[in-house]
Amino acid sequence: MTLDLTIVGSASAEPNPGGASSCYLLDAGEGQLVLECGHGAAAKLLLHTSIDRIKAILISHMHPDHFFDIVPLKYYITFNGLPRLPLYVPPTGPAILEGMIRALDEKDEFWGSAYDIRVFDPDQELCLLGMRIRMAPTHHFIPAWAMRFSSLNGTASGAIGYTSDTSVVEPVVELVRGTDVLLAECSVVTQAKSERDQGHLTPEQAAELARRAHARRLLLTHYPSAHADSMVRHAAQAFDGPCSLAVEGATYRV
Ligand SMILES: [Zn+2]
Ligand SMILES: [Zn+2]
Repeated sequence: MTLDLTIVGSASAEPNPGGASSCYLLDAGEGQLVLECGHGAAAKLLLHTSIDRIKAILISHMHPDHFFDIVPLKYYITFNGLPRLPLYVPPTGPAILEGMIRALDEKDEFWGSAYDIRVFDPDQELCLLGMRIRMAPTHHFIPAWAMRFSSLNGTASGAIGYTSDTSVVEPVVELVRGTDVLLAECSVVTQAKSERDQGHLTPEQAAELARRAHARRLLLTHYPSAHADSMVRHAAQAFDGPCSLAVEGATYRV
């Protein structure tokens, strides 16, 4: 069985014209998993799929550019009387979602009317929709988890790595080691911060991570489109294998 990755949103925290922030579809043949649902993603999702094909949502960390569009998606689900979707959030998720209800002066059932909120244990393997998902802590400004996806079905050995938001750290390198496709964030053009204070990758650092992990293919995502051309050029110079931008609407298969 193959594993398909479709790019729904590839912008960083700042908007790209006409684009969306972090959002990806993963499909191992048992229904689609929405990985991240950043701002602008809900409307883009409807361009690439229909809501009845989506079976779960998974959020790597609770920054707005990774989950804010669960709000418009919630309205789509409730206004159309659709079944609740499992929403997998990190351990930090429930308190933040609860705080949003209070800040918005919304009813207690605001999230529960559309989502079945489940807290993932990053130390445990998550088996979901025909996929095996493993996680590792990243180095970011809040707790965040990189992920490794492989198909549970058949003899397929292909794997997709996803850095979430991070600097270059060993747990992430180990997690994504040998992946066929490494979907690596590339939010910053240059890095002025000390190593300890970094929380994002430059194109050169994304390439370094891919090189150290022996990933076969590097896909840059979470990038500001104004700098995309030079970013992919810089990454390609530092990585031996195929290297390209994750283009919204494109599907990659392993
Ligand atoms: Zn972040
Ligand atoms: Zn981000």
